[in-house]
Amino acid sequence: TLQGKTAVVTGSNSGIGLGVARELARAGANIVLNSFTDRDEDHALAEALGTEFGVTARYIAADMSKAADCRALIEKAGACDILVNNAGIQHVAPIDDFPVEKWDAIVAINMSSAFHTTAAALPVMRAAGWGRVVNIASAHGLTASPFKSAYVAAKHGVVGLTKVTALETAEEPITANAICPGYVLTPLVEAQIPDTMEKYGMGREEVIKKVMLERQPSREFATVEQLGGTTVFLCSDAAAQITGTTISVDGGWTAL
Ligand code: NAD
Repeated sequence: TLQGKTAVVTGSNSGIGLGVARELARAGANIVLNSFTDRDEDHALAEALGTEFGVTARYIAADMSKAADCRALIEKAGACDILVNNAGIQHVAPIDDFPVEKWDAIVAINMSSAFHTTAAALPVMRAAGWGRVVNIASAHGLTASPFKSAYVAAKHGVVGLTKVTALETAEEPITANAICPGYVLTPLVEAQIPDTMEKYGMGREEVIKKVMLERQPSREFATVEQLGGTTVFLCSDAAAQITGTTISVDGGWTAL
């Protein structure tokens, strides 16, 4: 059980982050939800999570594209035993046509935010005498696809950062690992479907089966519950000697 632990999950008002936060709450952890918006519904989401699982749950707005916001999130959380770096965005375009501002945003949100939150969280974990860093990377942290230069570069970077974090905490009761999901049907993936349809000249179902799940031998999307379960496992005592590595939840993608 994770009772008494506090988990900060970046980018968790939808998709995988919310799924991970739910499973951590189910396991007894207090939760800090986050995104860059500060709407009533964001705070209501945290309140509902707290009520459902009988834990303390708060929503803290912070923009993961900004270094100061990343560090302020950990400070405002007050505690951070479990840090899940999940915030991420995608943009699909050939390199020579890739908008510079999209490159900068993806590198900042998908990679640099994990550096800033980790830098702020490690002293807090050390003071508490226990910690878990779980970085939500991607199959694209291990392999590449065309038209996703910024995303693939940032996710490979996150895997590298995970290894360094593990080495710097190796002799402490702190671990750092990356989870590498294949395709999970979330709003982020949903948003890629129109672009991909255009790029390949295909319809929606064809893009899902032939392009997206073409790389995923199971031919099934992974679920946010499965990613939450993997995160809970990495926070368990059984995983205390698992550090600096990646766990693929990709239906066999990276075995190809
Ligand atoms: P999503 O769009 O549902 O969720 C992304 C989350 O990040 C949202 O909560 C969003 O509000 C938040 N976010 C975006 N910009 C932010 C910012 N500037 N500051 C703070 N929060 C911000 O997408 P998802 O599929 O759940 O993706 C979550 C993570 O999982 C991402 O890092 C993504 O790269 C990774 N991932 C997703 C898949 C997939 O198939 N869905 C596969 C591999 C990896």
